[in-house]
Amino acid sequence: MSNIEETKTILLKELNDRRARKGKAPLATYPEVGCTACGESAASDERLFQSAVPYIRTCEKCVLRGYPFNKVRLPEGERIEWYRNNPTFHRSGDYGIVLTERALYVYSPFWLIFSRWRRLPLSDIRDVDFSDSRFSPALRIRLVDRTVVLRTPPDYADEMEFDRRNLIEAAERIRVMAKNGIA
Ligand SMILES: [Zn+2]
Repeated sequence: MSNIEETKTILLKELNDRRARKGKAPLATYPEVGCTACGESAASDERLFQSAVPYIRTCEKCVLRGYPFNKVRLPEGERIEWYRNNPTFHRSGDYGIVLTERALYVYSPFWLIFSRWRRLPLSDIRDVDFSDSRFSPALRIRLVDRTVVLRTPPDYADEMEFDRRNLIEAAERIRVMAKNGIA
């Protein structure tokens, strides 16, 4: 068996365990279309998020079920356009970034418990930059009245590289989205 087939076999078992807990019938084969987290084929108006590998796709409902996204509250009519985090096992807390057509949502485990998710309307964003450092790379979001800084934690080098790529891509996407939002 190839590595990918082995991975799919493991993922199918996890997927069927999740389905069993919800009282849903197991799937016979790994899904080639639809969400690979819940095994449901997405509705025509539902977005599927492609991961870095072609065989992992997640529907918006499944994204919003996992930590830290299970605590973000999207207003009616707002949908995820893009999101990132870094779910590693050795971290006690993860960061989260969600971009919708109207707002940027950022989550940091370093912030006070009741303000960990922050909603920043795109129309309030004046500038955004990736600011690199050896131990705490950051996304600096300059708003009309303040600056919000999302830092990613010190970690193993490869994890920090993954975080840097997330922050760089976030800065690029936020810049494009914020520009579109300015009437
Ligand atoms: Zn799903």
